Amino acid sequence: MATTITMPKLGLTMTEGTISEWKKSEGDSVEKGEIIFVVSTDKLSYEVEAPESGILAKIMVGEGGSAPVADPLAIISEPGEEIEDMQPQAAVEEAAVPQESEKEEETAVPVKTEKKPTTEKKADRKRIVVIGAGPGGYVAAIKAAQLGADVTIVDRKWLGGTCLNVGCIPTKVLLHTVELFNAVREGSMIGLMADNVRVDWKSLMKRKEQIVGQLVGGVKGLLSANGVTIIEGEASFVSEKEIQVKTEGGVKTIEADNVVIATGSAPAMPPIPGIDSEGVISSNEALSLEEVPSSMAIIGGGVIGVEFASIYASLGTRVTIVEMLPEILPNIDEDIVQIIKASLSRKGVEFHTASKVTGFSKNGGSVDVAVSTSEGDIVINSDKVLVAIGRRPVTDGLGLDNIGVRTNRGSIVTDEYLCTNKPGIYSIGDCSSPIMLAHVASHEGEVAVENIMGHEKKMDYKTNPGCIYTSPEIAGVGLTEKEARDKGYDVKIGKFPLVANGKSMIMNETEGMIKFVVDGKYDEILGVHMVGPRATDLIVEGALALRLEATVEEIVSTIHAHPTVGEALGEAALDVNGVAIHIPPRK
Ligand code: FAD
Repeated sequence: MATTITMPKLGLTMTEGTISEWKKSEGDSVEKGEIIFVVSTDKLSYEVEAPESGILAKIMVGEGGSAPVADPLAIISEPGEEIEDMQPQAAVEEAAVPQESEKEEETAVPVKTEKKPTTEKKADRKRIVVIGAGPGGYVAAIKAAQLGADVTIVDRKWLGGTCLNVGCIPTKVLLHTVELFNAVREGSMIGLMADNVRVDWKSLMKRKEQIVGQLVGGVKGLLSANGVTIIEGEASFVSEKEIQVKTEGGVKTIEADNVVIATGSAPAMPPIPGIDSEGVISSNEALSLEEVPSSMAIIGGGVIGVEFASIYASLGTRVTIVEMLPEILPNIDEDIVQIIKASLSRKGVEFHTASKVTGFSKNGGSVDVAVSTSEGDIVINSDKVLVAIGRRPVTDGLGLDNIGVRTNRGSIVTDEYLCTNKPGIYSIGDCSSPIMLAHVASHEGEVAVENIMGHEKKMDYKTNPGCIYTSPEIAGVGLTEKEARDKGYDVKIGKFPLVANGKSMIMNETEGMIKFVVDGKYDEILGVHMVGPRATDLIVEGALALRLEATVEEIVSTIHAHPTVGEALGEAALDVNGVAIHIPPRK
């Protein structure tokens, strides 16, 4: 049957678009997913894919022509099908045009509508097995249950995965206390006097365990409330539709129509001589030390290394960061890196960038780290050495070879629908994702399950915020200034320093700034980056701006409450065109 292609709605404010290019001519054959034309609006250009395979039988709006959203643009027919009599308008009425509230993540043409949870009997429901109960797996399991599947989740160690047990949550418990400790120590600046303020490490460890326990219990409750069967054990594939689980009570075999692999990641420990020496630890152990060490060498100046540096340096540990690359935090905007580096230096953190660790050796109760730097070889002696060079996907032991699931250096390979090379088997989170973050794993979980349940959805990473919970906090979404320039944009920048923001001054946290990266052609926002108090909460405005393809004017015309740190977002947007109110005019 012929399919009518309509003008897609590419943003909340879009009412019409212009066809800037047809990639195919009438009579050409087209493949589903192939780009067939390009739509331009005042904000963007978008390549539109063929919703079906067939013949491009008719083009109704040619190059340079405009049409309102949802108006017919072309017809794809099956080979030999007669389309002369088709009334375009009637055909369009059959194609669902999304309402604003039910807009899909990726604007697909034609748009499918959301399926409601089923009331089917258990025996008739799709059986989904989720392997791994981290933020990827447990969210996938709950979503699948909401959509009517019969779901079983298997985990060999703990509910909540790395995130709840040895990742996001415990680190942020420590960072929260450290943040308050720093604030109170500088209390005299805000008229707050307190004597003998100290961190009671044992109580802090207890609080961390209590919060982790509470959240893990919450995950268990949610899974049960959604009717998900929980099995504690180690899962592996017997065949594409059979999972074997080794439990304390013996081996079980579960049959599945679909499987979601969400087995996460583990700390990567490089094969450097002496890596097994006592005192050389990973992030897992760094969260549960008996006492605060007097010195710590951190190998790796990425997000995890820098967060631990912030924690321990604030507690009085002499921290040294060794990073192989020329700069720490390689994916963070350069202006932001300089601010956080200066802040950590003031806390006593030492940096050796462009430096390589060549070995570890025990030296009494401490560890010697041999480092090759641009100024020559040095030895750093520390109580503890935290290796934080990155994480490796956990896929060994799953029996992926038994069923031929493709991997690349241990990471499971998926397509944009998060399906592996084996139809029916999906993979999400750290074991397959290009971005190892909890919120990415959860979002991927939802997308994978939507696809299993028949709602076609592509994974879109555009609005993924990256956050670092140092003090001050760092957050960014979209392109950095360098990335935008490398991509050839005519870049405009807006910046606002927090020293000129009233609320930051009140909080005595003026270290930081907000930065907008903008496409000069349309003033469309390409990236938002910030360092300062509550940056990890404020970044949501940047993510939303990217999702809505907002322009500078749309941020500027949005009223930001006073007095808030968020006001600085409005000011930084104004600064894109040199008209910020609360900083002197640019020369
Ligand atoms: P995981 O959380 O790793 O869960 C995988 C689960 O699979 C585990 O529970 C494991 O037991 C189970 N499993 C593995 N193999 C099997 C098997 N064969 N059978 C059964 N079960 C199996 N991310 C953020 O977004 N924000 C942060 O602030 C943040 N901070 C972090 C701090 C630290 C110190 C670390 C280490 C990580 C941090 N992360 C953060 C990253 C985040 O923790 C991970 O991206 C996230 O946990 C990945 O989720 P996942 O579901 O893919 O895997």
